[in-house]
Amino acid sequence: MGVMGVSQPLRLVVDPHVHCEELERFEDNVVRGPGTQDCAIWCSAIGADGYGRFWLRRGGTRVMVRANRYALAASLNGEALEPWVRALHGCDNPVCVRASQPGELGLLHVIAGSQRDNMVMMARAGRGGGRVVVRRGDHGLNARRARAVALREAVRHGWDAEAVEAALLGSTDPTLW
Ligand SMILES: [Zn+2]
Repeated sequence: MGVMGVSQPLRLVVDPHVHCEELERFEDNVVRGPGTQDCAIWCSAIGADGYGRFWLRRGGTRVMVRANRYALAASLNGEALEPWVRALHGCDNPVCVRASQPGELGLLHVIAGSQRDNMVMMARAGRGGGRVVVRRGDHGLNARRARAVALREAVRHGWDAEAVEAALLGSTDPTLW
């Protein structure tokens, strides 16, 4: 992948039977928090944009998808995730791959939405409606990626709630990684 690492989203079908090995491989890269509100952290490749990367094959071609997008597709039970549907984060954590079900209460994680929903959510987060106080001036790509890498590090040996919270708050020094 190039520096950008972002391609146009594909129409993505993840069938629980046809793609069961692929689903297992995906899950092998995920550390899920024990709490009911906890994120599920992607622990494999992270792109320059701070989103997880997952490679798979469709129609004999190797394709790369964002891990959150794959998680959303996997939650659809074999129905296609259309290219125009966005995988948004209610938890404001790009490496989170916990899909929230429609109608679910509490903190939402990865949910399907439109570009418009995305703008509304970003505006809301900017007004302090987000889950944690993220330093807003920090939302450049480098900071976002550093946070993603810090989160991956925080769960390297299993879920460490304190380390995860510190990483989410951006209190770790990104230059360490
Ligand atoms: Zn989350």
